Amino acid sequence: MARLILKPGREKSLLRRHPWIFSGAVHRIAGDPGLGETIEVRASTGAFMAWAAYSPASQITARVWDFVESTQIDRGFFRTRLQRAIEMRSAVLSPGPAHAMRLVHGESDGLPGIVVDRYASTVVIQLSSAGGYHWRDTLVGLLVEITKAQTVFERSDSEVLQLEGLALGVGLRHGTPLAGAIKFEENGLQLLADVEYGHKTGFYLDQRDNRSLLRTLVAGRAVLDCFCYTGGFTLSALAAGAASVLAIDSSADSLAAARTHLELNRLSGAELLEGNVFQVLRRLRDQARSFDVVVLDPPKFAPTAALAERAARGYKDINLYAFKLLKPGGLLLTFSCSGGLSRELFQKIVADAAIDAGVDAQILRWLGAASDHPVALGFPEGEYLKGLLCRVAGRARRR
Ligand code: SAH
Repeated sequence: MARLILKPGREKSLLRRHPWIFSGAVHRIAGDPGLGETIEVRASTGAFMAWAAYSPASQITARVWDFVESTQIDRGFFRTRLQRAIEMRSAVLSPGPAHAMRLVHGESDGLPGIVVDRYASTVVIQLSSAGGYHWRDTLVGLLVEITKAQTVFERSDSEVLQLEGLALGVGLRHGTPLAGAIKFEENGLQLLADVEYGHKTGFYLDQRDNRSLLRTLVAGRAVLDCFCYTGGFTLSALAAGAASVLAIDSSADSLAAARTHLELNRLSGAELLEGNVFQVLRRLRDQARSFDVVVLDPPKFAPTAALAERAARGYKDINLYAFKLLKPGGLLLTFSCSGGLSRELFQKIVADAAIDAGVDAQILRWLGAASDHPVALGFPEGEYLKGLLCRVAGRARRR
């Protein structure tokens, strides 16, 4: 078994059960491990630290499978980890067979670089690490065994694959081929996930709880849904009796999918607008339009911490205009899914936006991903989605 020996003092993060070993912490590799193979990690003192997957091309040289020396990293190990993750979901969410949910959330479920989502009887696996690739066939076999999925589809196409030196892995891995989007249910709505070509694995499952929250806030209200994608928030708002929804996205395909969703659920009252949110918000402001509730759920502006500053300007801009468009007493649900941007910084950006918009606002709630997207306490990076529910208490001054 090949070994990774750490530089002196570099075992601290592992002792706190953080699963990443950065290249800068590595003293040397003993042996000749292949891409994704299991290696033994030892401190400079020789003490055993962890079993990990080797990823020579990545800045993250190894990702930990387990911290216990007696553990064997084999099919049985992955069966136990997958079962543990899937049992947690049944205990916490008690999903029905027609529902969708994240079954495995990477590092936070002890399975670095491995994401698994279920849409009714279709399971989608998304791998983003050399270790995940190494165990692909084992993982697919176990998922079939445990979930009895009719179809297992692989969507390993994230932008980080390149950094790991891995090729795209997209295609059918088990069972019945996909025939179009997968139908599933959420909160009484009929939804479609385009597992093959949609964003992520087809749908933003992480926003489920926030869609539910929106339902409690919109009856009789005028809602603006920015970055609406296939209409997740829009459908929830209409189902809960919103008076109107203006939904904006720059992608004509996403808006077409949103339209299909509206028809499927026989919902009306939405206007779907193709455009760039940054420009449309300004135009709405010039037209003196106003709304009771605004949702801002933009794409990742800051995939890495290095891009946080540029991203901060983007977040500030859309939040500023959202505040300007809200009526007194109006509500803003604002999100960032940038892993590189901390919750503290995001809150500061929203506070700055309120000041520049000339409003006094309050935070009513801190928002995050649904509980099928847990965050391991040892892995704070797992908290990528953060949000705020804010209320405009009044106009501080005219702007
Ligand atoms: N709120 C959605 C998910 C949003 S994903 C849901 O709950 O399902 C981000 C969306 O923003 C994508 O659909 C993308 O097409 C869109 N987008 C990205 N940049 C944009 C821009 N500048 N203006 C409008 N839409 C944009």
